[in-house]
Amino acid sequence: MTTNERIDHLERLLELVRGLSTAPDLESFLHTIINEAIELTNSELASILEYDEIAEELRFAAMHWYERDLLRPVGVPLDGSAAGWVFRRGQPLIIQDAKLDKRHFKVVDRVTRHDTHSLAAVPLMVRGEVVGVLEALNKKDEAHYTEEDLTILETLGALAAQAMKTANLQGKVRATSIELAELERLKSDFIAITSHELRTPLGLILGHATFLRELSGEQYGDQLDTIIRNATKLKEIVENLTDVDNFQTGAARIRSQRVSLAKIVKDVVLTFKDEAGTKNITLECETGESPFYMTADDGKLSVAMSNLIKNALQFTEVGGHVKVSVQEDAGHYKVCITDDGIGIPARDLPRVFERFFQVESHLTRHYGGMGLGLSVAKAMIELHGGRIWVDSAEGKGSTFTFLLPVEHAQHVPVTSPFIK
Ligand code: ADP
Repeated sequence: MTTNERIDHLERLLELVRGLSTAPDLESFLHTIINEAIELTNSELASILEYDEIAEELRFAAMHWYERDLLRPVGVPLDGSAAGWVFRRGQPLIIQDAKLDKRHFKVVDRVTRHDTHSLAAVPLMVRGEVVGVLEALNKKDEAHYTEEDLTILETLGALAAQAMKTANLQGKVRATSIELAELERLKSDFIAITSHELRTPLGLILGHATFLRELSGEQYGDQLDTIIRNATKLKEIVENLTDVDNFQTGAARIRSQRVSLAKIVKDVVLTFKDEAGTKNITLECETGESPFYMTADDGKLSVAMSNLIKNALQFTEVGGHVKVSVQEDAGHYKVCITDDGIGIPARDLPRVFERFFQVESHLTRHYGGMGLGLSVAKAMIELHGGRIWVDSAEGKGSTFTFLLPVEHAQHVPVTSPFIK
């Protein structure tokens, strides 16, 4: 090959490399590759075959336009074909006389009414994985294929393989994001339906059980208390679901008024004193002297606080410590809920605020809950223009921190944190 020819080859290859990112689609890029393969190896035809995992055979991914309809349905077996030989071994192959070589798959010639007399084929490899084969057929002027032809085909093949792999990955990403969107929709529907359908019957059970409890006095008192206690637990779950549903649909509104954050925190902590006592957990509240006045929806902040303290108590062993503190921090009020409980594995930290996320699988879990508490707390905080995060070390404990702007804007944010 002359120096000028080499320069021409290199320029054409560079053009192809540029095409990797600019080609409109995979098919047109692969087409350019086979055209270059034909010209640079002085062949009559070229084609690219891709491995079909389901059929376990090779299929034509790029071929000359007049062969397209004929070759699309043809499967090339891994045994009994030159392409299969190259694919299986991951090695290049030259056949100078296809008529005599058993590895040549004659079916393709029959289908296309074409006569193959010589071929050169290389594997398409991405990071050691063979994804297909590039073939050039019938070297012109009755010449023989050479090592140089194989080198050219290998370079073209590497570009084709990269493009095929990228397209494959893009396809998978697209399919996964469609699946995820569908899963999100199912979650939202599930939340909307359950919260709606459970609320009324549960209200009736609680109402009647409470009525019977008052009527019956001590007779059946224990049984009725059990019914009321468990129905109240269910009611909390339904309320969480309803909150989530309201955020999803954008129906959540905050009713702001002037409140003392210190008082909200102290009141919520007080409601957990008994529970902490039962588990012998020291529950401390550190608010200092300041009332921490702000404009906020105290009901929603109480729910957020409750969910965080409930978790801290739930995921802390008997004899542990939970501390809640409030302080002012650069135009924000900062609330921290710290425990020395089981902590959260680093890999799960980014997901703990997702709806229904739980560190333990629900099949093997030791703890109750639906995986909604943190997503509700996050939504409540974000509705106030605040933000929440967690620092945690497995086996050592967790600190959930949220910041609320001191001068909270009066109007409700238009977007819900659940609407992506
Ligand atoms: P759940 O109602 O299941 O507790 P949450 O949304 O409140 O749901 O919490 C999600 C998950 O995050 C919990 O199941 C738990 O695995 C983990 N988690 C939350 N808070 C803590 C904490 N203080 N310590 C350890 N793990 C926690």
